[in-house]
Amino acid sequence: MEIDIVILNLTELQLLSRRGARLSPDQRMSVARLRQETPAPILAHFDEVLEQGRKGIAEVRHGVCSGCYLKLPTSLMAAAGGGDLVVCENCGAYLAFVGAESTAGLVGTHR
Ligand SMILES: [Zn+2]
Repeated sequence: MEIDIVILNLTELQLLSRRGARLSPDQRMSVARLRQETPAPILAHFDEVLEQGRKGIAEVRHGVCSGCYLKLPTSLMAAAGGGDLVVCENCGAYLAFVGAESTAGLVGTHR
């Protein structure tokens, strides 16, 4: 499965999970579908982190995890650049590299 899709699914699941019991029937169906589409081991880790009151998935901004606000090690950034789904070593959130944090940004090409 494409890592990008997993990240999108988890981002949406996290948004929906914040609404708690206030989900509409449509949203409940979305949750069921997203969970079905997400590989079980990924979902298990995601749920575990959420249960601990932390972010299951966190955006990376300027090399910093938005879940715990710590700078990510270069090795981890490189793994993500290679298309791997990576977990923040500090807070356990899956890391979503968005926009300027794409691979191109990591190798230092500035526009
Ligand atoms: Zn973190």
